[in-house]
Amino acid sequence: MASIDINEVCKIYDQGGAKAVDTVDIQIEDGEFIVLVGPSGCGKSTLLRMVAGLEEISQGTISIGDRVVNEVEPADRDIAMVFQNYALYPHMTVYDNLAYGLKNRGTPKTEIAARVAEAAKMLEIEKYLDRKPRALSGGQRQRVAMGRAIVRKPAVFLFDEPLSNLDAKLRVTMRGEIRKLQKRLKTTAIYVTHDQLEAMTLADRLVVLNGGRIEQIGTPLEVYNRP
Ligand code: ADP
Ligand code: ADP
Repeated sequence: MASIDINEVCKIYDQGGAKAVDTVDIQIEDGEFIVLVGPSGCGKSTLLRMVAGLEEISQGTISIGDRVVNEVEPADRDIAMVFQNYALYPHMTVYDNLAYGLKNRGTPKTEIAARVAEAAKMLEIEKYLDRKPRALSGGQRQRVAMGRAIVRKPAVFLFDEPLSNLDAKLRVTMRGEIRKLQKRLKTTAIYVTHDQLEAMTLADRLVVLNGGRIEQIGTPLEVYNRP
């Protein structure tokens, strides 16, 4: 569990170029589900990647708990990210996909088995543990991708448009599942989407970005039902 402090953060990709993220300031509470929403190119992904430590921060600071992200080694960052394209290892079984990150961190085998079993049960993918990703449907693959994040029991979940490759019906189902999981695990989450309905359903608070700047920030009611 962790709070996140995004403090006056800017991102400039090209020297002298426009700010992809422009002086963004967000204080996220422990256990809060924040959705970053806004049109393509508004800086959602860049901001998320900076929180993940995958992108250099041009100005400002981002802290998770009491640690400044860019001062922490990638392997020690207590975050897990779920991507749009699943990023599963194609040659590994579902079990090994789930276990991989834990093995890398030297988690004992019995604990790995227990955590994989728990995550698989939560996501209802127990039956597929011996399969390779190519033998799964899109929805099942996305569950595996989420399982990989869950087994790590991270302080923070980061989601980058995780449902955009799924069909409309499955998106609605998975949206509900993600919300349920987050409530149950009480993990702080930042979720990027360009889908307003998804944003409204999932968010405790929404951050509407436009041209790299915060246009609005508030609960779904405050942001979308303003008279
Ligand atoms: P979003 O996720 O909201 O679609 P991005 O964060 O991907 O927006 O992009 C924000 C801005 O930064 C856009 O103008 C985009 O073209 C630019 N940008 C993103 N990634 C790079 C990069 N690697 N190099 C240069 N410019 C980039
Ligand atoms: P984890 O989040 O489980 O610790 P890693 O940090 O080891 O994952 O890997 C990060 C990303 O690198 C993965 O999501 C994957 O896209 C890619 N990757 C690393 N190793 C492999 C591999 N052997 N096969 C395919 N993709 C890989």
